[in-house]
Amino acid sequence: MWRYEDTRAGLRDALRLSSAMTLKSAVAGNRLGGGKGVIVLPEGQPPPHDRRAVLLDFADAINVLRGAYITAEDVGTSSKDMEVIARGTKHVSGLSRRRGGSGDPSPYTALGVHAAIEAGVERVFGSSALKGRTVVLTGLGHVGLRVAKGLLRAGAKVIATDIDRAKRAEIVSAGGRWIAPDKALAQAADVFAPCALGGILSDETVAGLQVPIVAGAANNQLADDNVAGQLALRGILWAPDFVANAGGIINIDVELERGGYDPTRARQRVKGIGDTMRRIFDVADSTGVTPLDAAMALARERLAAGA
Ligand code: NAD
Repeated sequence: MWRYEDTRAGLRDALRLSSAMTLKSAVAGNRLGGGKGVIVLPEGQPPPHDRRAVLLDFADAINVLRGAYITAEDVGTSSKDMEVIARGTKHVSGLSRRRGGSGDPSPYTALGVHAAIEAGVERVFGSSALKGRTVVLTGLGHVGLRVAKGLLRAGAKVIATDIDRAKRAEIVSAGGRWIAPDKALAQAADVFAPCALGGILSDETVAGLQVPIVAGAANNQLADDNVAGQLALRGILWAPDFVANAGGIINIDVELERGGYDPTRARQRVKGIGDTMRRIFDVADSTGVTPLDAAMALARERLAAGA
């Protein structure tokens, strides 16, 4: 649920988001395609009873597609909203564990990012061991804080930041070090893990990076696709974001498997992100393309095979 200028802007965004979801799902090896729903509302937040009516109306729209589209929680909606939608349609995922769903996707997204960081470290340093490696991380939210704690458990040093200074105490008490947000991008480290918002990698920011690897959870990290070439020119290995952060959508794919949701199976499949990343790095190396191009080629190959 998001604010749009008009219906056409909402439609454009739905198409853009659904095509990104298609790539993410294809590379992750999901059976799901790449749908996205956009609810366009008049100005202002609807009062709670209207919100419910809007969500039930959306459920009716989903039913028209007879299961070709399955909705899930995203920006502006919560798992509570999904429970309302579930009253109007069975084509809804990401419900709470209590309701037989896969629950909060963030721990699985964090697990996949951890696997992507290990794959990057292995490629650059010859071993996936994180002990003694330094990771600078931005965005200590649902995913970022979990990634940071996982890295610390694996013996890495974590230097982290967030625009919300309340996060400082949390990361310090977990054993990490705090850095001011405006210093993070130029901090020397083994890995930069962007886990806040998109667009963080531009020609300007890449020029100042002091790391050999970038791997994180944030969506749409590249300000534009040409930045992938700029990273390669600087000798920085970039783990494509839509591969690294696919843990949440893999978790939902497991929810839709025959036999129902199984957290052990979800963890196993999400850890496979590490091998997918290794394959992408191999193809990028052997064909002289960027990891972005190699990941896009893998997505197209899998889409063609599934078509
Ligand atoms: P979140 O809102 O819980 O956390 C984002 C954090 O980043 C917040 O603590 C915020 O204060 C901080 N932040 C924002 N701008 C910042 C800046 N300029 N510098 C430093 N910190 C900043 O979000 P999340 O669910 O943890 O998601 C993080 C990123 O991962 C997003 O880009 C999201 O699209 C992507 N992602 C999340 C999931 C998931 O399962 N939650 C799945 C795939 C991708």
